[in-house]
Amino acid sequence: MDLTKKNISIVGFGKSGKAIAEVLSKFDNNIFISDSKDESAFTDLLKNFDRGNIRMEFGKNTAEIYEGKDLIILSPGVSIYNDVVQTALSKGVKVTGEIEIAYKLANSPIIGVTGTNGKSTTASLTHCLITYCGKKSILAGNIGIPLSYEIVNHPETDFITAEISSFQLETINNFKPFIGIITNITPDHTDRHITFSNYVKAKRRLFENQGENDFAVLNYDDENVRRIADGLKAKKYWFSVQSKTDCGFYFKDGKYFKSENDKAIVLPDAALSNLPGIHNCQNILAALCVCDILKLDLEQAAKATAFYKPLSHRMEFAGSIKGVDFYDDSKGTNPGAVVAAIENFVRPTALIAGGKNKGMNFEFLSEIIAKNTVFLAAIGESGKEIAELCRKNGMTNAVYFGTEFEKAIRAAYESVKKLKGRVLLSPAGASFDMFKSAEHRGDEFKRIVKKMEAEIN
Ligand code: ADP
Repeated sequence: MDLTKKNISIVGFGKSGKAIAEVLSKFDNNIFISDSKDESAFTDLLKNFDRGNIRMEFGKNTAEIYEGKDLIILSPGVSIYNDVVQTALSKGVKVTGEIEIAYKLANSPIIGVTGTNGKSTTASLTHCLITYCGKKSILAGNIGIPLSYEIVNHPETDFITAEISSFQLETINNFKPFIGIITNITPDHTDRHITFSNYVKAKRRLFENQGENDFAVLNYDDENVRRIADGLKAKKYWFSVQSKTDCGFYFKDGKYFKSENDKAIVLPDAALSNLPGIHNCQNILAALCVCDILKLDLEQAAKATAFYKPLSHRMEFAGSIKGVDFYDDSKGTNPGAVVAAIENFVRPTALIAGGKNKGMNFEFLSEIIAKNTVFLAAIGESGKEIAELCRKNGMTNAVYFGTEFEKAIRAAYESVKKLKGRVLLSPAGASFDMFKSAEHRGDEFKRIVKKMEAEIN
């Protein structure tokens, strides 16, 4: 569809909704924005927003969304199962997402990264490696900068590295990355996708428009990823930390290898501190696959890992008190991320977990917690359930602290003080039950740890 002089609705006025409104109004489109939240929720976003001729409604989603419209653009926060969206679809109005429009505007190949965990890390690492190898790359999408905005503002880039969520993939039509990466697939967002199968299907859409000249970078160690690889048209690159792969990269005895020739790729020591843990080895492997596909100098790419700036709230060292180290993994918002965080360390761990439940089943996670940690300080909406399940699994030290975050942190510290263990915040749930965001939760954790450091050390 030609995107000029059209009647377009944007449903959901988040960052990407605002960006797409700004982009599309430049092409003389007639734009209507609708968000079910009150206008007061958007004070910051509205500050630098030039409404011009754009019509807006807040606190409701009326029929104006579809009446007389050529196209509806859904923000990732709005479900395709939303009543008004379903009505629009039944009336034959085309529904799409910001990613699709960004794709139409892009002039450079897209490297699309999805998966349950590790999207932001893998996308930002890939971007770092490409840039260090002398190519221009932009980094955008679910990582926080709307893809359409970055594409319009950087038309001269060589590559577009885009983090893409399952919600964003639900509304694509022709979107096609030159390289698509799936880091892993474990349960998440069941409250939105309803079934795990729907969630997997949404992830698979990353590859749906690819052809034989495109690439799929896939985690061989993940059976859900292996399953969706069947029938993909793109050329497959596999990565693994468990075994040698057919075509791609693997990790063995602390080293990275290219499968084709078993050539070792040596990473600088700094890579270990920038990207600790076996889950980050997987992220590094995925980024190396991309560099190889793009025919970049692999030795140069390996060196770049020393310059990678780790993202906050992902296994971030938050302080130390009398030999007890504190880690902020506030971005661990589903069981898979927490399992990765727990399994990565050998020291006795006191875990702080619990948060807004996204429809998750915590049975498996609680087995892992009961087996691998010495204390659980459970908090928030899902904390009670997690603590009860851990107790069922034989854990005696599982205590529920409700919303008393500081008390939970202090109790976690006390429990591993003599053992010189570590305290890990890795909640397995979203933050909105007690905090504004996962960042807010992590910042609060760090603030309290600093306060305790000053008191105790
Ligand atoms: P995403 O963008 O998919 O949420 P992030 O890179 O922001 O991923 O990391 C989110 C959480 O997942 C953090 O707790 C992080 O430690 C963990 N994580 C990162 N990479 C992986 C991986 N490959 N496998 C499992 N967990 C991971």
